Amino acid sequence: MSIPEKIRQCHPALTALRRDIHAHPELAFEEHRTADLVARRLEALGVEVHRGLGGTGVVGVLKAGRSLRAIGLRADMDALPIQERNDFAHVSLHAGCMHACGHDGHTTMLLGAAEVLAAHPDFDGTAYFIFQPAEEGEGGADAMVDDGLFDRFPMASIFGMHNWPGLPTGHFAVHDGPVMASADRFDIEICGQGAHGAMPHLGTDSIIAGAALVQALQTVVSRTLDPLDSAVVSVTQFHAGEAYNVIPDRAKLCGTVRAFSAAVQDRIEATISRIGGGVAASHGVSVEVDYRRGYPPTINTADEAAFCAAVAGSLPGASVLTDLPPSMGAEDFAFYLRHKPGCYVWIGNGPGEGGCTLHNPHYDFNDAIIPFGVAYWVELVRRLLPKT
Ligand SMILES: [Zn+2]
Ligand SMILES: [Zn+2]
Repeated sequence: MSIPEKIRQCHPALTALRRDIHAHPELAFEEHRTADLVARRLEALGVEVHRGLGGTGVVGVLKAGRSLRAIGLRADMDALPIQERNDFAHVSLHAGCMHACGHDGHTTMLLGAAEVLAAHPDFDGTAYFIFQPAEEGEGGADAMVDDGLFDRFPMASIFGMHNWPGLPTGHFAVHDGPVMASADRFDIEICGQGAHGAMPHLGTDSIIAGAALVQALQTVVSRTLDPLDSAVVSVTQFHAGEAYNVIPDRAKLCGTVRAFSAAVQDRIEATISRIGGGVAASHGVSVEVDYRRGYPPTINTADEAAFCAAVAGSLPGASVLTDLPPSMGAEDFAFYLRHKPGCYVWIGNGPGEGGCTLHNPHYDFNDAIIPFGVAYWVELVRRLLPKT
């Protein structure tokens, strides 16, 4: 049986598997059932399996030939704390938890690739199948690296894939350079002096200071960054007060910062701090800024991006876009790219009708794209670890 025939033959069972994972979503670092399912399927294929990396992570090792060359292919396994609003048969069985980012599909496509490559070990080297926990905000990739992923499984490069609603089925998008932004967080505590709502002159109003700060923070991107650099500073929370007739002594602002380089992150962090100090002085309050780095920007390396574009472009029925702008969303695949060259591509999930974007309660992974994802992984391994 040829590889395309094998992929076609696997499609119905992979669809059933994807829907089973969809019906049993698990949150970050709690992917016990999913990890067990992944490990047992890999074992059944004769793939060497290592469990428990970075918590619930699983690594499958498939060797062919004698070459010492090795590469990593990564999928994520976690779901989101969202109440699903679909009514199809494979709807989430866990209240308040759903696969709204398609990690059920990513896990399934990588398992499909392992199945095809185990049946057709038509390469020379080692393929590591990396199933990581906790991509959604909790940094499972970082946990895998800290747990010795690259020491225990030395690899030359690493590759990732994410479904992209709105990008047509059969399309891939490959970015040379930045593909996803960094995601930092800040908490700002404003402390003034409380007073009667009718006697503001007897206190120091934390709400007025907070309002001034929200406004001033809008100048971080517009007035301090190079207009050709992309960045976002969003204040997403403003907490203060509990009564109609009390001026509260404290206010709290929280938000997110997105950028594509460490230099821009540094600049934003310093500017928020400076503005906080200025508002404190002008309003007679104290302002404390707690700025925390989260996911770094995801920046594909040039050689690997060109290689992935060639792989995707070679697949029957597929087309490749290399000129899409990057997303201001974030992705913990960035942690791997701090250590290894690699590339993270988008695979079209089809038209995003009905508002079915990622993280939407009506989202569902499109099972029609499974063969494209599997074929991409298989072809990537065959081309990067060629038989000589
Ligand atoms: Zn997500
Ligand atoms: Zn995701």
